[in-house]
Amino acid sequence: MEVVVLVGKAAQKAWAIAKPPLPRSIAVLRCPHPSPQNVNTRPAARQEILDAFADAAARLVASDASRTTCPSCGTGGVPETSHLAGGTYVCPRCSRTWSGPAAG
Ligand SMILES: [Zn+2]
Repeated sequence: MEVVVLVGKAAQKAWAIAKPPLPRSIAVLRCPHPSPQNVNTRPAARQEILDAFADAAARLVASDASRTTCPSCGTGGVPETSHLAGGTYVCPRCSRTWSGPAAG
């Protein structure tokens, strides 16, 4: 899990109560609920929702790029060889292996 989007006040209130223990690396974003009543009575809500999901998408793309780039030789687009433990990667150029986000 990379990003959490809390859509609407009910989700945001529940999150505040539950206080789930997450690693700092997981982004928690908030936006209004996309109900017709909400977006039609407060037009700015539509853009706030789009902005939140654009932000989430950008974070996922950046995260994927860092994960699939070899931390030793910089070869990009290394395919995931195992989905266990956050993914396992083997660089086809230098044979370095890593799992999860490449830390360097
Ligand atoms: Zn490499």
